[in-house]
Amino acid sequence: MSKNIDWSSLGFGYMPTDYRYVSYFKDGKWDEGQLVSDPNIVLNECACVFQYAQTVFEGLKAYTTANGDIVTFRPDLNAARLADSAKRLEIPPVSEEQFLDAVKKVVEANKDFVPPYGSGASLYIRPYIMGTNAVIGVKPAEEYQFRILVTPVGPYFKGGAKPIVIKVSDYDRAAPHGTGNIKAGLNYAMSLYPIVKAHEEGFSENMYLDPATRTKVEETGGANIIFIKGNKFITPKSDSILPSITRRSLMIVAEKYLGLEVEHREVLFDEIKDMDEMGLCGTAAVISPVGRVNDHGNIIDIPSGMTEMGPTLTKLRETLLGIQEGTVEAPEGWIYKIC
Ligand SMILES: *Cc1c(COP(=O)(O)O)cnc(C)c1O
Repeated sequence: MSKNIDWSSLGFGYMPTDYRYVSYFKDGKWDEGQLVSDPNIVLNECACVFQYAQTVFEGLKAYTTANGDIVTFRPDLNAARLADSAKRLEIPPVSEEQFLDAVKKVVEANKDFVPPYGSGASLYIRPYIMGTNAVIGVKPAEEYQFRILVTPVGPYFKGGAKPIVIKVSDYDRAAPHGTGNIKAGLNYAMSLYPIVKAHEEGFSENMYLDPATRTKVEETGGANIIFIKGNKFITPKSDSILPSITRRSLMIVAEKYLGLEVEHREVLFDEIKDMDEMGLCGTAAVISPVGRVNDHGNIIDIPSGMTEMGPTLTKLRETLLGIQEGTVEAPEGWIYKIC
């Protein structure tokens, strides 16, 4: 039985569900993991996660397809990325097998919280790992918890995807050779000040430039950037960009389904003025259109405008959504059935 939730009025917020998954790392190994009902975690005051932010996370969603299956999208890539993030912070990685098993168990146990097909809502899945034992001298923890919480979230766009205005930030989100390419809470902690400022100034997001030269496009605080120029799909390449699974999937959809030419390369900020369409991409929204970029008062208007998403990004978004929801045939292995 589906829970008595008004799916259309859900926002992107936390709501506790019936179960969460936890696996403990102790004496050099992960245990088999279990589902628990308590949403609270009790840790020592000196846990490494509190003192030195030793924690990494993932984000994916479970949703109902056209034929009624509950599925997730390419969770093997989330497993691989979580392992990459973990290694960079000296956290013991969780195997792909354990990750997929944990996702399946926790979604199945909370299946009454998975919104129905057509609602636009989904069950957001948040896997995370943290160092839990007391550490005061700077070193990695010896004990960890791998957890997954799930929470139902509403349709990202209520009443259509409206183009947004973003600003070029004076801050950097990642240092050269830093941690920009991993999904770590620490990257978000330092983005809070610039995003609060940007919102106060009336902008939806910050666009970050490459920290070394400030001449190239990187990404926003939580989404990769994509451009359309004629028949080309162009997206920036950099060691400090987080490898978005949505962006990597869109590169394949652009080439194989829409016949676009895909360029994954360094993109100069000066090239934006020549683009036809611009968007942000990530799990939550798939694509949100950007209508305008404000670079310290210099305005770059994207030709697709401020009223609706441009035609090619619209096609890309609809094709990827169709693949996810089972109305367009998916490439082999993209849809992972839970139940
Ligand atoms: C999670 C994240 C994204 C989007 O990645 P998806 O796998 O597409 O959800 C983009 N940029 C940053 C910084 C992120 O943390």
